[in-house]
Amino acid sequence: MTRINYHIVGQHERDESLTLGNKNFGLKCLKAALCCSTILVIGLYIWKLDWSPILNQSNAQNKILSSHIPAFFNIKDKYFVYTSQCHMSKVDPFSADALQVFHRTEYTKCGLSKNLITVKFDSRKGTYILHMNDESIGCCYSPIERAGSGRKADFNYNLLPCSNFHQDFVVPQHVKAIITKCHKINTTRVLQQDAFAFVHQPRNNKPEKSKKPSVLLWGIDSLSRINFQRTMPLTYKYLREQLWFELQGYSKIGVNTYPNLMALLTGYNNSLSTKCYKSKIFDSLDTCHLIWKDYKQEGFVTAYAEDWAKFATFNHPQKGFLKPPTDYYLRPFVMAIEKTLKSETKSGIPYCLGRRHYAEYIYDYAIDFTKIFKSQPSFGLFWTNSFSHNSFSLPSSMDKRTVEYMRTLEKNGIMENSIILFFSDHGMRFGPLRKLKSGFLEERMPNMYIWLPKWFRKQYASFARALELNRNRLTSNYDIYATLQHILKLNTSAADLPRADGCPDCHSIFFEMPENRTCSDAGISEHWCTCNMYEESKTIDAVVKRLTSQLVEATNEYLVARNLTDVCSKLTLHKIVSAETKEQLDANSNFMAYRVQYEANPKKALFEATTRWNRQTEHIDIDVNDISRISQYENEPKCVKDMVAKKYCICAKYIPILKKH
Ligand SMILES: [Zn+2]
Repeated sequence: MTRINYHIVGQHERDESLTLGNKNFGLKCLKAALCCSTILVIGLYIWKLDWSPILNQSNAQNKILSSHIPAFFNIKDKYFVYTSQCHMSKVDPFSADALQVFHRTEYTKCGLSKNLITVKFDSRKGTYILHMNDESIGCCYSPIERAGSGRKADFNYNLLPCSNFHQDFVVPQHVKAIITKCHKINTTRVLQQDAFAFVHQPRNNKPEKSKKPSVLLWGIDSLSRINFQRTMPLTYKYLREQLWFELQGYSKIGVNTYPNLMALLTGYNNSLSTKCYKSKIFDSLDTCHLIWKDYKQEGFVTAYAEDWAKFATFNHPQKGFLKPPTDYYLRPFVMAIEKTLKSETKSGIPYCLGRRHYAEYIYDYAIDFTKIFKSQPSFGLFWTNSFSHNSFSLPSSMDKRTVEYMRTLEKNGIMENSIILFFSDHGMRFGPLRKLKSGFLEERMPNMYIWLPKWFRKQYASFARALELNRNRLTSNYDIYATLQHILKLNTSAADLPRADGCPDCHSIFFEMPENRTCSDAGISEHWCTCNMYEESKTIDAVVKRLTSQLVEATNEYLVARNLTDVCSKLTLHKIVSAETKEQLDANSNFMAYRVQYEANPKKALFEATTRWNRQTEHIDIDVNDISRISQYENEPKCVKDMVAKKYCICAKYIPILKKH
C-alpha cells in the first residue's frame, strides 16, 4: 500500500514518506522540484534578457514603469512595448488561426540547366570576365542602357544588338548590364538566355581613408516582425545568434511603401512626400531630398536597386527620376529582364526571371556593390517585393537563401565596417492574414533589425546601449531617418543633429527614446498607432451603426470632392463586420475612439477605419486616409491612378462584369 501525505508534514515525516513509502513518488517530487526551479531560473533569465533595457533604466524611470508592470511573467509574453504611455501587444506568430492560412514553401531553383556562361571577377584588374563553359557553343551579349534622359528615362530602356564575344571576354567599363544568348556553333537556336549586371569600380578610384561605417539598407516589402519569425525561422535564428539589435516597438507611419520609405529616406510626412511627386513644379522625384544625396555629398558611393519594375516604390504612380538617383542604379536592367526573360509568376508577381529568382538579381547586385566598395564608405538601398508583397507565406521560400546571402556578406568582411538595416515598410495590408484578429497589429509592425560593426559598438558604446534599451520602446521611420543623419555626423551633439521635418521630436535611435513616448511624439497618427488596447463593441450598437454610416458617407464625399463620381461607384453600407472601442485615456473627453470593419457595396469591399466619435455632436472626426481597404483590390480601381483614390474607388464600368461571377 502506498503511503502519501498530502497535508503539510514535518521534515522527518516527509523524509520517511519519500524514502520508505514510495520511491517513485519521491523521485517524481524531486524531478518536479528541479523542473520548477529550472523553469523559474530560465524564466528569470529570459525575462531579464528581453527586458534588460527596462531593468537598466534609471530609478526614476523604474518607478514610473513598475506601476504599469502587470503579472511578473506576462510582460515579455504579452507586449513588445510596455511603457507608461504605450502598451503594444505581442502577436503569436504561430497562433492556430495564422497557421491555418500559412503554407510553407520550399526554395526551388528557377533553372535546372547548367550555366553556359560564368561571370568571373578579376580582383587585380578590377574587371569582369565572361567565361563560356562549353567549347561547342557561341554566345553574344546585348548591353542594356538607360533610355536617354527626360521623363521617359525611368520607364524605358535600350537593349542594344547582340554582339558575339570570344572566350574570357573582358566586359567594357561602360557596359553596366547585359542579356546574353548562347547557341551551338553554326546554329541559330538559342540554348540559353541569361542576364548579368556589373558594378564596375571607377578608374583612378582612391578610397577615402576615414573610418566611416558604410550603410546597407536591406528591405523586404510587407514583412511584419511577426511574419518574419513565422516564415523565416532560419534567418530569425541567425540574426539573434549574431547579436543583431531588434526594434520591437517599430511602427509604420503610412499606408503603403511610398510614405513609409519616404519617411525613412527624407524624414517627410505623408503630405510632404506626396508634394514631392504631385507638385506642378516638379516633373520627377529628382528635386526631392532623398538621404542618399547627403551621403553622396559626404563622399559615399551610392546604390539603389529594386525588383518588380512596374510597381517600384518611386515609379508607381510616382514619376521616377530624370537622372539616375544614385551612382549605381539597377532600374534599366530590372525593366529589361522583366520584359525579355522567361517569367514564372507567383501570387501575381514575377518570382523567377530566366534562370534566377527575381530577388536574387537584387541581392547579387548588393553583394557585388558592397564587395567592390568594401574599402570606402558606401550607401546602398536594396529592396525586394517579389517574394513577399502579395503572399505572406512566400518569404518562407527565401529563408535559407537569405541566411546564405548574410553569410556571404560576413565572409566578404562587409559586417566589419557596415551598419546594416534588415527591415520592412509594413506588414501584410490585405489577404487572409490581414483578415485575422491580429491582422490590424501585424499590418502596423514592420520588421526592423540592425547590425553594428564590432569596432562601432566599442567606440560608440553609449549608442549601442541606447539601441539595446530602445528595443522595447516605441519607434518609427522618422527615428531611422534621424539615425541615418546621425551616422553621417557621429561626433555631433544630439541637439545639433538634423531631425525629420515630419516629426521634429523624433531622434536617432542611438539615443534613448523617452519612456513616456506617445504615438504622436513618434509621428504616428491614431490610425496607425498600436499603443492602446481595443475592446470589442457590439456591432448592433446605435453609435456603431451611426458612425459606420458616416464613414461610408465621408468616403462618398471624398469621391465627389475629387470629381471621381463619373468613374467610381457610390458606396453603400452592406454589413458591419466588427467594432471595437479603444482604452479611454481621458475619462472626461468627449471623444471615444472606435475601430470598425465593414463591407460596402458594390463588391462587398472590406474596409477598416479608426475614428473618433464626438459624444456631444454625435459626429465622427475622420481623415479619409484613416480608412483602409483590407480586401485585395488589384483590378477594381483601374480607372483611377491616385493611390489614395484607388482605396475607395470601385470603377463603375466594371460592375456589370463583376456581377456575372
Ligand atoms: Zn510596401
